[in-house]
This record gives sequence, C-alpha cells and structure tokens, in this order.
Amino acid sequence: MNRLHVLDTTLRDGMQGLEISYTLEDKLQIAHALDDLKIDYIEGGFPLSNEKEAAFFKEVRKARFNHAKVLSFGSTRKPGGSADSDAHVGALLEADTPGVVIVGKTWLAHVDKVLRTDEEENLRMIADSISFLKKEGREVIFDLEHFFDGYKDDPAYAVRVLETGTEAGADVLCICDTNGGTLPSEVARIMSELPQDRLAPLGGHFHNDCGTAVANSLAAVEAGATQIQGTINGWGERCGNANLCVFIPNAVLKMGYEPACAPQLSHLTSISRFVAEKANIIPDKRQPYVGTAAFSHKAGQHADVVAKAGSLMEHIDSSLVGNQRQILLSELAGKSTVVEKISKYGEFDKGDAVVADLIDTLKTRERDGYEYEAAEASFDLLVRKALKTYHPVVQLRNYHLESYKAHQTPSKTVGRIFMQAQGKELMGAAVGIGPVETLDHALRDALAPHYPFISKIGLTDYRVRVLNPERASAAKVRVFITSTDHEGLSWDTVGVNENIVEASWEALVDSLEWYYNEYCVDE
Ligand SMILES: [Zn+2]
Repeated sequence: MNRLHVLDTTLRDGMQGLEISYTLEDKLQIAHALDDLKIDYIEGGFPLSNEKEAAFFKEVRKARFNHAKVLSFGSTRKPGGSADSDAHVGALLEADTPGVVIVGKTWLAHVDKVLRTDEEENLRMIADSISFLKKEGREVIFDLEHFFDGYKDDPAYAVRVLETGTEAGADVLCICDTNGGTLPSEVARIMSELPQDRLAPLGGHFHNDCGTAVANSLAAVEAGATQIQGTINGWGERCGNANLCVFIPNAVLKMGYEPACAPQLSHLTSISRFVAEKANIIPDKRQPYVGTAAFSHKAGQHADVVAKAGSLMEHIDSSLVGNQRQILLSELAGKSTVVEKISKYGEFDKGDAVVADLIDTLKTRERDGYEYEAAEASFDLLVRKALKTYHPVVQLRNYHLESYKAHQTPSKTVGRIFMQAQGKELMGAAVGIGPVETLDHALRDALAPHYPFISKIGLTDYRVRVLNPERASAAKVRVFITSTDHEGLSWDTVGVNENIVEASWEALVDSLEWYYNEYCVDE
C-alpha cells in the first residue's frame, strides 16, 4: 500500500493568511470537517499565542475525533535553557494533545541572526526539546524551518539537523520551504542527496511563493516523503501553502497513493466551500478539482460532446472529488446529492417527486444567490417544507425600524415587530445599536413568553457578502448567521435580498425555526 499521511495546517499556518480569521467556533467546526475527511493530523495552533488558541485546545479535549489527531504547535526551547522548564515547550504539554509539531532552525543565518546563538546550541535545543516531548509520551513531528534555504547554504549542517532530530526520536522530520522559493526540480535533487535510509521518515511543508507548492509536495512524495503538510484552498501566509484540495486528488487519482482520506475524496469540494464560507472569502471558481468552473462547459458543440462522452472532455470524473459538471448533466449529480442529504428523513429514490421538487427549489434559490454548503440548517428547512413536516414559528405582519443619530452620540435603532404565532397576535419592541441586533431583540421580545426555547439560543456570528458589486448600493447581499444553544450545538442559516435587513431577517427566522423544528416539535 502506497501510504501517505496528510497534515492540515489551515488552523495554524492558514490563520497567517491575508484577511483570514476564524472564531473559536469556526475553528472547531473546521476541525470536525477535517476529521470527517479523515485528514490524519490537524495542526490546531500555538497554545501560548492567545486565549482563543488555548480555549481551542480546551474544547478539543472535550470533543470526539474519529480519525484525526489534533496537534499543538510550538518551537524548540530557548537558547541556554532546558526543555523541562521552557514556557513554550510547557505550553505544548499543557495543550494535552497526543502529538506536537515542534519547529526548529536549519539555516545557520537564522541561528546566528534570529536565535543569536551558535550552531551547536541550536542542535542541543532541538535534541533536548524532542527527547523531552518523546519522554512525555507525545508523537513528535519536527518541522525543519527554512530547510531548503539552509541546505543550499550549508548542506552538511542541514543534514546534521536531520540526524539530530532522528537521534532524539522525532517521528517525522518535516522539511520546510518556509520562504517558498524552491522549485520542484530542486526538491527532487536535494531529497535525493539526503541519507534517507538512516533518517526518521520525511515530511514536506511548502509555501506557494513560486506558485509551485503543490508541485513541490508531489515532487517530495516521489522523492520519499511520507507526510505532506498543507491547507484547505491553499490559504496561508503570503501566497499560501500547498493546497490540499489539489494535492490530495493528484496524489490519490494520478499517483496511486492511499492516504486515509482517499475514500472520502468526494467530500473535498464541499469542505473547500465550507472553509471558504467560514473565512468569508469568495472561493476561487477556477481552483483545480473543487472550483465551480473546474468541470463547467459552455453550451454549444463542446457541451454536446460532454453530454455524449464527458470523459473525452474532462481529465477526471467530477464526482470523484464531489464536484459536478455544470450544464446538462448537473441535474443527475444533484439528484444523488439531494437523496444523500435527505436520507435522514427516510428512504428516498432519485425518481421520487420530492427529490425533483427540491432540485427545482435549489436551482431557483442558487440562481437567486443562496448557498447551502455552509447553511445546512436553512437547507434542512427547505427539505422539511418539501416533505411537509415543517412547523412555522413566525408569521410576520410587519416590522418597523428607525435608525437615528444626533450630534456626537452613538447611533441607535429602535424597532417593533408585529406577528402572528400560535394563533395569537404578538408584538415585540427593542432598541439596539444596528438594525440586525434590534430586529433580533424585538423578535425575541415577542416570542419569548410563548416559546421558552428562545432564551436558550443566540447569535454567535454574522457575515455579509455582496453578490453583484457592479450594482453598487442596489447589489444583492447574502447573509450567513451562526447560532448556538446552551449546550454548544451550532448551526448556520442564510438569507439573500437586495435589502440587508430583509436578508438578515430571513436568516434569523430560519435560525430559530430550524431549532424549533429539530428539537421542540414532537413528530
Ligand atoms: Zn509554513
């Protein structure tokens, strides 16, 4: 078996990317999605860097992961100290993960100018830190920072660093192209010069500054690496990391490797879009394998060939990576997705009328700008409506909002809602900072006496995306809302409208109606 391990660093290196930030809840959801994908290792972050990171590891300890090992990340001990009393190494232990990723220097220029120590002490720092963590029972992945630049500068020292890591007991020596300036041919040459038979297994960590991070990862695997590190969508520091959404299918489908995630390959497109929604970044349509354009064909003769013999016009079957061919045959792929998604409500067949109805609804809604990859709760409500098992909570009569600002005082919004629920006419009122908060509070004000569950749930995240910016202020917006309950359950809903308040209202109502239907109705 051509075994290969995949380490995802979306939650660590990925967080260094421009315009990327994830909430604690996002990080947990992404970690679980990576676990479902059967990624072997998830680098969770640097536990000493801030409270959010420390809280993440606390939550991870309580959570259940079926396959992935969540790892903490940190550096070797400080020069002149000892590993057992070093704050960074201590924080790695405190994170209480089954394994750790520990980064050390390989490039003498960095040892001298950044660490301000000598080459022998750098080796002692590496040896001490690894053997201490091994003694504490941790799996240790040793990241050799700037390995390729260091090797080009002084190959003998770079090899000594590898040997030191091996002797200290590292489980994997991950050679890093930290500056991203290395080309695939150099990766192949340098790796062929390493004494691999007397070293611990090698891994590769590549940055995309030359646009070759995936190519370098593939070259590394061919040259003997058994672990590759990368991120979902390739987002990370500067130009990013090796894109796992491209690397994994290349390794599996083109090179015959069998990482644990190979059987889950059809989840790749959805995880790519899920992470994009969490990062609030518009996914690259032209991304290989998982982009919406990856298997799209314009109408005309070409499309006709695709319809008759798709394999002639596409390099792989799009369903292998969970993507779908656009035009003509998309309905077919859509049907099986819908059948799979609604299987929790009963047994359905592709031919069932309800499946066709849902496809129609989805098509219309997606054309209108809705997206359900990261709004499963709204999708669930569509299913319930199609199956006629939906119980509405809110029937709106009208809402009224007024924002005002005077002189230097902060702006305020007052709002009132009139609605019907449980056969009664209800009214709610609130004052908030902005219209969405006010609407949320007024809605709660009206419903709380009649629906006690309202007090258990709350908004935790709110994201807005402009869908057609060329229309300027008349553009449509898509609003995503994340809600959670007291027990930490979280769900996402979506609304679309030209009016941001109306889009938010739709996502708000979906949020509480989903919870009500899922947990408060006896069916
Ligand atoms: Zn990196």
